[in-house]
Amino acid sequence: MPSIADLFAHNRAWAAQMERDRPGFFASLTKQQSPKYMWIGCSDSRVPANQITGLEPGEVFVHRNVANVVVHSDLNALSTVQFAVEMLKVEHIMVVGHYGCGGVLAALHSKRIGLADNWIRHIQDVRDRHRGILEKLAPEQRGDALVDLNVIEQVVNLCVSTVMQDAWAKGQNVTIHGWAFGVNDGLLQDLHMTVSSADSLEPVYRAAIEGVIAARS
Ligand SMILES: [Zn+2]
Repeated sequence: MPSIADLFAHNRAWAAQMERDRPGFFASLTKQQSPKYMWIGCSDSRVPANQITGLEPGEVFVHRNVANVVVHSDLNALSTVQFAVEMLKVEHIMVVGHYGCGGVLAALHSKRIGLADNWIRHIQDVRDRHRGILEKLAPEQRGDALVDLNVIEQVVNLCVSTVMQDAWAKGQNVTIHGWAFGVNDGLLQDLHMTVSSADSLEPVYRAAIEGVIAARS
């Protein structure tokens, strides 16, 4: 395991290399950030937004929490989304789950963790809403299916937020995407939960849920 001193050593080497490769890189970053992308992902250390997508500092605005949940009363997430949409004018927001997510598996199996149980309850609500789908699947498929269903439901939560409803009512160009990351192969899957207007949410949602079932039958 690298030590804290190693982290600083790595940081200095990285900054020097960036400046050698792209003179003026950091000076240009100090002026302002103008990312086109916002990433809402899991806090899991295996799912680093920039590395997975090849995006550099300044290119993606990030919010992460346990199991990539968008909760209507979470001022942290909603403030981050509002800043991204209204001030930075991001054009794409991706909600990204990942297979093998500890939060999702804890929700699936009603495993008690502690304080976090109250957060994971949001994913159990997703599990309970889609119990019919999950029960038809083989037990070993249910974890991955709940990862997908959770992403789809969190995209819905984001779409119906006042921030997104207001942005779309004003004609702002913002598209929400639902993706899942494979920790085992490093690949992103598009769950086809892609919404760019308030009107398109319902049909896209129904098709995406069908897609979760189709992918496993
Ligand atoms: Zn996770």
